[in-house]
Amino acid sequence: MQDKYDLHCHSTASDGALAPAEVVRRAHQQGVTALALTDHDTTAGLQEAAQAAEDCGIRLIPGIELSAIYANQCLHIIGLNIDAEQPILTEGLIKQQALRQQRALKMAEKLQKKGIAGAYEAVVQAAGNGEITRSHFADFLVAHGHVDNQQDAFDRYLSKGKPAFVATQWASLEDVVGWIRSAGGIAVLAHPLRYKLSFKWMNKALAAFKLAGGQGVEVVTGRASLDDIRLSVQLLRNHQLLASVGSDFHTPENQWVELGRLAPLPAEAEPVWSLFSPRQPPAAEIH
Ligand code: AMP
Ligand code: MN
Ligand code: MN
Ligand code: MN
Repeated sequence: MQDKYDLHCHSTASDGALAPAEVVRRAHQQGVTALALTDHDTTAGLQEAAQAAEDCGIRLIPGIELSAIYANQCLHIIGLNIDAEQPILTEGLIKQQALRQQRALKMAEKLQKKGIAGAYEAVVQAAGNGEITRSHFADFLVAHGHVDNQQDAFDRYLSKGKPAFVATQWASLEDVVGWIRSAGGIAVLAHPLRYKLSFKWMNKALAAFKLAGGQGVEVVTGRASLDDIRLSVQLLRNHQLLASVGSDFHTPENQWVELGRLAPLPAEAEPVWSLFSPRQPPAAEIH
């Protein structure tokens, strides 16, 4: 049987709505057979997800989505098949998590100056033990009637150039790819078209990414159009990188994005899972 892959999604360990085990069970219900949980700058959900995956018989690929800086721009780098215990990675994550904490305080201060109080307490409460993200701020702004929806929150407050945006010195692209590689993982550039880079800068970024040890680019995402997919395949070809697929699922409330609901990968793109080790058969099947 052919595997059905979804190599990008979120749980309550960062800005997802479902607990790690719930994400895994939902993926299983949607027919996914190989899932990577990729929370923002944390591996905290992986253990729970691995247990749930074992219980329902799907393959869990330990993953992460790291924030990185390249030429003053924040890029998201997915790590697949990482060993979450590797110290170079865990030390890096401690720094990224401290940055998230400090940024949340600064964002709340900026909102306070705009007359919006109580954001910090609200996002800390909403994130619980998970990492605080801008999505938590967006939810807070929606809940308190400052904006109509998440998109509006980003457009009016949270995106670059807007009143609550705080530029953050995430680790460099080179460092982040290095952490993933040192943890035995595969580094994949997430949603390449979402950064709105010019063709020239995208090619520069991909060249730097590859030089640092990056191996893949997300070609099929939950929201990619056929044109997007074609364009991404072109980027792969130019840089001889492998193709990844991932829904970037966050919540069942977003009816446009579902676990495993992904356009097929074009035949000319070599998939990133050609680098995965073969799936181990369950113990009972070994004779
Ligand atoms: P952060 O990593 O904390 O800056 O948060 C980034 C997250 O915010 C992304 O992973 C998305 O889940 C969400 N996000 C970013 N931009 C938008 C947007 N324009 N509309 C809705 N959600 C967004
Ligand atoms: Mn997110
Ligand atoms: Mn992302
Ligand atoms: Mn994501």
